[in-house]
Amino acid sequence: MNFELTQEQRMYQRAVRDFCEGEIKPYAAEIEQQGDLRWEAIRKMPQLGLTGIQVPEEYGGAGMDTISASIAVEELGRVCGSTALSLSAHNGLGCMPIVRWGTPAQKEKFLPRLTSGETLGALALTEPNAGSDLMSAQTSATLEGDQYVVSGAKAWITNARFAPVIITLSRTDKAAGTRGFSHILVETDRAGLTIHPPEKKMGLKGSSTHMISYDNVCVPAENVLGEVGRGFQQTMETLDGGRISIGALSVGIAQGAFEEAVKYARQRAAFGKPISEHQAIQWMIADAALEIDAARLLVYRAAWLKDQGKPFTKEAAMAKLFASEVAERVCFNAIQIHGSYGYSAEFPVERMYRDQRLMSIGEGTSQIQRLVIARRVLSEMQG
Ligand SMILES: Cc1cc2nc3c(=O)[nH]c(=O)nc-3n(C[C@H](O)[C@H](O)[C@H](O)COP(=O)(O)OP(=O)(O)OC[C@H]3O[C@@H](n4cnc5c(N)ncnc54)[C@H](O)[C@@H]3O)c2cc1C
Repeated sequence: MNFELTQEQRMYQRAVRDFCEGEIKPYAAEIEQQGDLRWEAIRKMPQLGLTGIQVPEEYGGAGMDTISASIAVEELGRVCGSTALSLSAHNGLGCMPIVRWGTPAQKEKFLPRLTSGETLGALALTEPNAGSDLMSAQTSATLEGDQYVVSGAKAWITNARFAPVIITLSRTDKAAGTRGFSHILVETDRAGLTIHPPEKKMGLKGSSTHMISYDNVCVPAENVLGEVGRGFQQTMETLDGGRISIGALSVGIAQGAFEEAVKYARQRAAFGKPISEHQAIQWMIADAALEIDAARLLVYRAAWLKDQGKPFTKEAAMAKLFASEVAERVCFNAIQIHGSYGYSAEFPVERMYRDQRLMSIGEGTSQIQRLVIARRVLSEMQG
């Protein structure tokens, strides 16, 4: 067993950290206030492979492993939750399904645009009345001649307004159960597609999230991603990978808040000494250091299993569940250590606390992660 990152992974971590420190961290408050990403930085991301971390190089990506992808998302999350969420969704949800199941023509058509740094990808699963329970999703795609007609609505879709194509989970056969869904690649310039204004959210305000309406949107039949009837299975496999990424993002936000808290605890004095010398503060620092370390190891383990081609569904759920709940505790205590200043928008921990709140909801709530883990454990321990 080896707990060290490879030299290549360490170098990548250093390069992404330097980029984040220079191009994103100083602008994180502005990104939140303006409700938009810093496109000047996004356009430079292809140089570091950040817009196609696991996309093959022939399509403009970096063709890296999942551990490197986790490292990158953690570094982004450490400085800006909004940028990290948009890039995590772009890579894991917007690009990976096309990499995994796209035809050569679909890859050729969409991936170079997605990795260019000019657009971001989107995956539309959730609907106004179906989130955790995706089997009740109603958006339909009906084959009429040589085209599919897509009708319905999706909700809470990250990056929709920047995407050239939205991968849309659609019912292609109402009677076929889990085999009745397919992913349809819906180009965003198709007639009948409306991307509604960004949702007003508690945090992650720089990462826009949209409701989408599909009013008889016609796309060619060749826009089915992979095999017809495989959409539900593709969704589950995509979310397994996405959960590693949300775990990494949670670790990043926790790490960022932790660093702010330690810095502040050294500077702030009370009762004649820096508050870092009060034992109650040290306990919070110790707990945060411990939990962040444990969360990161869970993320790396799930990523490693994925890279080895081994089953990782349970481990990805564990990593996401634990890391997201660690982010909540670490950010809560980071504000506590800051006292009133932590409650002020002048200090980044206030933003980090709001940003982290999504992590135990998006890509499967904590309750759903526990269901996934329990089902696996119970089947593994049968007999
Ligand atoms: C900022 C943001 C970005 C997002 N980005 C995307 C995106 O890009 N693409 C996309 O498709 N979706 C996206 N989502 C949607 C997100 O994935 C869903 O909100 C999430 O899966 C939960 O679904 P829901 O909100 O419908 O909650 P519901 O499914 O209605 O759940 C409500 C509550 O019931 C609980 N619950 C549900 N079923 C069970 C059960 N069986 N057992 C126990 N408890 C249960 C849940 O845990 C939760 O506490 C985004 C959401 C947000 C807020």
